[in-house]
Amino acid sequence: MLAETSCASGQEVSSFSGSDARLRPEHSIPLPKENPVSNSPTISSSATPAEDGVLGSLSEQGRVIIFDTTLRDGEQSPGISLDVAEKVEIAEQLARLGVDYIEAGFPIASQGDFEAVHAVASAVGSPEGPVICGLSRTALKDIDRCWEAIEPASKRRIHTFIATSETHMTHKLRMTPEQVIAEAGSAVAHAKQYTDDVEFSPEDASRSDFDFMCQVLQVAVDAGATTLNIPDTVGFGIPEEYGKRLAAVRTRVTGEYVISAHCHDDLGMAVANSIAAIAHGARQVECAVNGLGERAGNAALEELVMALRTRGDYFEELTGTRLYTGVKPGELARTSRIVSRLTGYPVQYNKAVVGRNAFAHESGIHQHGVLTERSTYEIMDPAEVGQGESKIVLGKHSGRHAFADTLAKMGITVSGDALNQAFLRFKELADRKIQLSEADLEAIVAEEMGVDAGERWEVETIAAEVRPGHNPVATVVLRRGDERFEQTAEGDGMIDACCGAIRKITGMDGELDDYAVSSVTGGVDALADVVLQFTSSDGIKVAGRGLSTDVVEASARAFLHAINKVAKVRDRGADDGRSVIRPGSLRVE
Ligand SMILES: [Zn+2]
Repeated sequence: MLAETSCASGQEVSSFSGSDARLRPEHSIPLPKENPVSNSPTISSSATPAEDGVLGSLSEQGRVIIFDTTLRDGEQSPGISLDVAEKVEIAEQLARLGVDYIEAGFPIASQGDFEAVHAVASAVGSPEGPVICGLSRTALKDIDRCWEAIEPASKRRIHTFIATSETHMTHKLRMTPEQVIAEAGSAVAHAKQYTDDVEFSPEDASRSDFDFMCQVLQVAVDAGATTLNIPDTVGFGIPEEYGKRLAAVRTRVTGEYVISAHCHDDLGMAVANSIAAIAHGARQVECAVNGLGERAGNAALEELVMALRTRGDYFEELTGTRLYTGVKPGELARTSRIVSRLTGYPVQYNKAVVGRNAFAHESGIHQHGVLTERSTYEIMDPAEVGQGESKIVLGKHSGRHAFADTLAKMGITVSGDALNQAFLRFKELADRKIQLSEADLEAIVAEEMGVDAGERWEVETIAAEVRPGHNPVATVVLRRGDERFEQTAEGDGMIDACCGAIRKITGMDGELDDYAVSSVTGGVDALADVVLQFTSSDGIKVAGRGLSTDVVEASARAFLHAINKVAKVRDRGADDGRSVIRPGSLRVE
């Protein structure tokens, strides 16, 4: 939520055009009589933007534009705080996945957000890569800042928004409807001076007065907006209702534009609402990997893509056109794992498409059926979404060259210190585990992210001991540079004792908010993968990750990883691209 407005009027808020629709949706939507899909949802070729944006090349009737907001809306999930390197890593994977747009952040929100968007634009905004989008309020200086952040990319979009529901205008913006209309027009016109590719969103659309919202949308299109996004900001929509609302916008607002859906999952219907939107003519969907996002999250990218792919027949019958996206489904599972690791948000086992049990068959009848003929109980092939067998790629005798080469083949680029560190970790683990899979390598690289080699604490040895009748005791030896530190501590359990010894050495105070352990791959020799959330005594929130064949050591490593990240944030003046959540920080849904 925005904690402040871009141009609070400070005046008495005038009552909203005879409506008492506050907290109540508009129910009397005039619905088009004919099949709404018959209205062309896409920009005609004559309106093709010259350089920025991909609308021109995506203007075919059947293409559904995948607008990924993992790094913007997704990053606002409670407890997630990614630094610049982590955001770039996710953006690179999103580019490999083949999304059309990456909404990289909200540049005006903080210096860190600005730097992250700028870094993503520079790293993945190539001519063949996705369009890089920045979010901006309607204030002109916000739009200038947004442009500055996305400028390094080859293809750029500015996404500007203002709330149109009475409750938001009255209580949040403190603006009259007339002021909101004026803001929308001037913002789009200003953004249009920078790029042809401008998206406009009336925030809280699903609770806005329909006529008023269409008035605002018309002003936005007339000022040059090429995409109109109709966000279900509070997750209030019901599929048929939301779909019809979008179709009604199409009949009411004249001009050439793409209609976009942005749905939240408060009632568990984000994907269903987005699919209904597509059925009613939307040709862009805003979504996030693993369904991350504010509160209950956004529509899950992987579910939308696979629904369109698996049920292409349905949409073809409905629209007369085969609908498709540019996403490579084979990258879905890996994208999900990388996002989960870097955000510290686990993926539920029974999550559609990317959950580890999404293709597991427990009952004998089902197992027998699938073994005889896969299609008896499986509508998708696990290999199609990258959930096939985890490939064994390297072993203890693999050298540095093979290691770097394998990472490169997987599309992971690490160099310099990070590569050296990752290789050392690989050797340590390969000595114990013998064989490592692609998933193991991803985890090793993720563990090395977010901290620089120079000043960090490193584990030398960990020894924990359980003594009958006494609390467990752990002795931990850490290194920093050439110095060596040793401490012993007691704890409720071995992990607690290790963390106690680490606290003593590093002097780090704070709260462990969350702790989760899982295995990277199946089997008794699988690597333990610990992800924890830590908040330091001065309020810096980080996720720590640790890997080991031993769960106590993995936990200690994750704790130390978190401590190193806190130290890095402090060194850099508390703003290294991480969105440190403080009262009044800018948030938007
Ligand atoms: Zn949202």
